[in-house]
Amino acid sequence: MNQTLSDYKDKVRGCLVGGAVGDALGYQIEFEIGIKPKQVTRFKNNKGIISDDTQMALFTANALLWRETRLAIRGIALAPPEAICLGYFDWLRTQEKTDKHTPICWIEKIPELNVIREPGRTCLTALEERTKDDNGTLNFSRLINDSKGSGAVMRVAPIGLYIIPKEAGKIAGYSANITHGHPLAILSAFVMAKIIAYIVSENTKIETAVLRSIKDMMDWEPDYYENNRCHKLRWDTEKSELKEILERAIKLAKENIEDTNAISQLGQGWVSEEALAIATYSTIKHQDSFEDAVVSAVNHDGDSDTTGALAGNIIGAKLGYNKIPDYYKNNIEIKDVMLELADDMVNGVPIDKNGDVSDATWLSKYWHL
Ligand SMILES: [Mg+2]
Repeated sequence: MNQTLSDYKDKVRGCLVGGAVGDALGYQIEFEIGIKPKQVTRFKNNKGIISDDTQMALFTANALLWRETRLAIRGIALAPPEAICLGYFDWLRTQEKTDKHTPICWIEKIPELNVIREPGRTCLTALEERTKDDNGTLNFSRLINDSKGSGAVMRVAPIGLYIIPKEAGKIAGYSANITHGHPLAILSAFVMAKIIAYIVSENTKIETAVLRSIKDMMDWEPDYYENNRCHKLRWDTEKSELKEILERAIKLAKENIEDTNAISQLGQGWVSEEALAIATYSTIKHQDSFEDAVVSAVNHDGDSDTTGALAGNIIGAKLGYNKIPDYYKNNIEIKDVMLELADDMVNGVPIDKNGDVSDATWLSKYWHL
């Protein structure tokens, strides 16, 4: 399906801001149980407070823009997952006030990104380890741990916004392993970024994007196999498990069944494949309504901010920023920062007629020696 540049821009904005809205709705009830259907539909005190999910997604976006600028000026840059790792070191600094490396992200100065909002322990400890042992240089054949927590998948949507579909999954998968080494964390990140890439680049239906992404994931052969046949067998098993739960989510979305009942059949979203499955269910079931999709995705007894963030990313990318209800847009914090990052991703590095990058505003954000 063809789309104009303004449609594309609307989708990128919708994905980033939509994810933040879902995150903020769910963050209010992340650790509560006994949640009723549609219990939460608005922000407490009409203020949408983002959590670590959105923080890390925005550092992902900023790091990719920093890398692209470096590539344009120097002709050489780190691999995207390594640049993203440096971005996460900046996020770690905002959480622990450490001072172990030179920051690369301009957003690290934003006050709302310097607050602690229930950060995932796995993300913190893995990043602490990486600042010690390899300073961001990722060994693509080594898995950092065996965690499949949903912190791996909650932050990868910007990769699907900025990187072409063919490459987005692989880069998201390797960047998931910055903090989470379980195959299901890496494969879920692969699929999430692909879904976003297909929706924004090719304007596919959500179900089509999910099915194509599952197929790509099944065909992907990550470097982690290390020519070890037993290792490959494990990955093949995990691939089949992810395919099964996502296909179950699609099937449930077509049944006449209450949302909380359907979601309970997919899990609670504390692990990556369940979080992605819940977001898949909610966004296919409610594919014409941003509000219905995110309300469905957050109102359950599990990891509501992450399932909300993923659903908001997906439905926001599909319907676009203009279809997000004004209530959410008017009350979500740091909306201007998100729109600036979104538009920078759409516009790309500004190359002048001499082939240089001379835009002072751009350089002040994305170029550091
Ligand atoms: Mg969170």
